[in-house]
Parts: sequence; structure tokens; C-alpha cells
Amino acid sequence: MPLADLLGQDLARDRLLKMVAQTRVPQTLLFSGPQGVGKNLAAMMLAQALSCREPENGDACGKCPACIQIQRKLYPDLLLIAAENQQIKINQVAEIQDFISYSPLVGEHRIVIIKDAHKLNLTAANALLKTLEEPAPAVLFILLSHRHHLLLATILSRCLRLQFVSLPQAAVVKILEQQEPVGEDAAVSGDAILAAAAWSGGSMGRAQFFLVEENLAWGREFIGKFSHLPQATILAALDLAEVTAQFAEREMVFFLLRSFLHDALLSAQGIGMQRESEVQISSADWSADVTRFAALGEMRILAVRQRLLALEQAQGINVNIKLAFEAFFTAIISGIAGSNRGF
Ligand SMILES: [Zn+2]
Repeated sequence: MPLADLLGQDLARDRLLKMVAQTRVPQTLLFSGPQGVGKNLAAMMLAQALSCREPENGDACGKCPACIQIQRKLYPDLLLIAAENQQIKINQVAEIQDFISYSPLVGEHRIVIIKDAHKLNLTAANALLKTLEEPAPAVLFILLSHRHHLLLATILSRCLRLQFVSLPQAAVVKILEQQEPVGEDAAVSGDAILAAAAWSGGSMGRAQFFLVEENLAWGREFIGKFSHLPQATILAALDLAEVTAQFAEREMVFFLLRSFLHDALLSAQGIGMQRESEVQISSADWSADVTRFAALGEMRILAVRQRLLALEQAQGINVNIKLAFEAFFTAIISGIAGSNRGF
């Protein structure tokens, strides 16, 4: 796919197009920004634009053998590195070093794409740094990361960083519409696409998740119940903790709670449902839930948010996530009752 078709990342797209047009692509690029917003796709598009046999206006044609091989991840001058068991290890950096020790086989560049570059362990990161310090002329490194601040400062300093942003809802809708249906009867309705985009918070990963009807129903029910907690019974809070702890997509739980409390805070501050950007969640039931919860008041919502942050940080360490959710949810009830424990 041509770079020009990259949706929702106009700034990054235009900078990349300019670099390619001027044949001034830095040897080490870092694409940073949230997950699921097109960093990986942009890296593949850049690889195509640089390797295309029949470029059109300096951009990839999408049809020549090089473009097709890159799309299929079979291009001999492209190496893709991804974490194995949550880490990128020294043997993978050795693989990179071996790969770049050869001249390009078919194109003009040897391109290395490193996904989740923050997962380089320390030994691997130091080895990579040495490689980045003395790059072979025809080599291009593209590092991708949604947590670039975890990278070694010495690696960061060698990269030209392009920031990717949460996708505008319109872009999410367009991408979902372009998506080819999987299976025979998997064509999705326009309503489902709009709802999934509204709940995606600008990430394609979450948009795909909410495109599944049951997932969207779960999200609506979960937030509905959460918004009622200030007026709920302890038993209801314990029930919610139980189902929340059992739910496999924990990242999604935290994403929804973070976004919800963010909106509730704005609402309590009298900023209403005005959006900081158009990437927040927007649906009628969400807004009603936010308004209900905002009655807790600014200070208490801030305290709830603090507590959520602590819970999120502790989840890796805390073995009993159910107890942690129980404490979190019941504290919201005790808070509104005016008790001095919790909030
Ligand atoms: Zn091409």
C-alpha cells in the first residue's frame, strides 16, 4: 500500500513522504505512539516506498513484486523482529547483525523493523546500540514502540522519532469499512462499525474488539454497572469485582475505566462532555453513565482515579486481582456514604 493511503496519521505520513521524495530517510527511525494506530503499517508502507520497482510519484505502487513480497513478509531485504516471550533478546540482535552484514539482494536498502522496541532486554539493547552507532550505509532501522520512554537514552538519541497519534473516529470507521470480511457471513453492519469506532478510543485493536457484538455488550454493561456503584450495595460491588476479575481482557477493563473517569472528571468540573479531542469514547449510554457518576464530585473522582492507577500498577504484582477489584469498587460506595475510609 502506498504511504499516501495511511489513514489518520497525516503528520507522520507527510513527513515520511517528504523524506522519501527527497531521498533523505534517516538511518534510524522510531515510530512512537499508542498501540493499534498504524505504526506497523506505516513501517511496511515505508519499506514498500523505498523498495518499489515502479514507484508512482515516489510512493509505492503496491503491485510490483517488491511491494507484494513486502506485504507478504517475504522480501529478502526486509527483516522483521518481534519480542519472543515478552523480550527481544541478544540472539535476535545477532540475527540483525548478520542480516545487515550483507548488501541488499534485490533492492537498494536492507530494512530492519523492530516491533515493540522497548522490549529489548538490556544486553540486547546495548548490542543494538553498537550496531546503530556504526550503521552500514544501505541499512535502515525502523523501531516501533508504544513505550518509547523505556528505551535506552543512548538508543533514543540515535533515532529520529515520529509521533503517531490516536486515530480520529472517522479514520477508524474508514479502516473498518475497507476491511475485507473474514468468512462468509462476517460482513458487519454500518451501525456496528460506528459503535466499534465510538468505543475504540482511536485504536484499531480496540475497534476490532468492539466490533464483536458480545464484546460491545460487555463494555456497555460493565460501564453501566460501574457508573451505578456510588448508589449500589456492597453486594453489587462484590459481584462486579468477581466478573471483572474473571474477564480475560484486563487491558480493556483498565482502558474503559481510565477513559470513563477522565470523562467523569471533565463532567464534574463543569466542562461537560466537551472533548479534548475527538478520539474519546462517545455514545449516548456512555454519556448518560458519565453524567451519573460525575455526581460524585471532582475530589472524589480524582481519588477514584488515583486508586485505579495504583490498582493498575499493582496488577502485575498483586496475586489476588479479585480482592483488589473488591476493595476498589466497595471504596466507591463507602465514599459516597461519607465514611472516612476509602475516599
Ligand atoms: Zn511497487
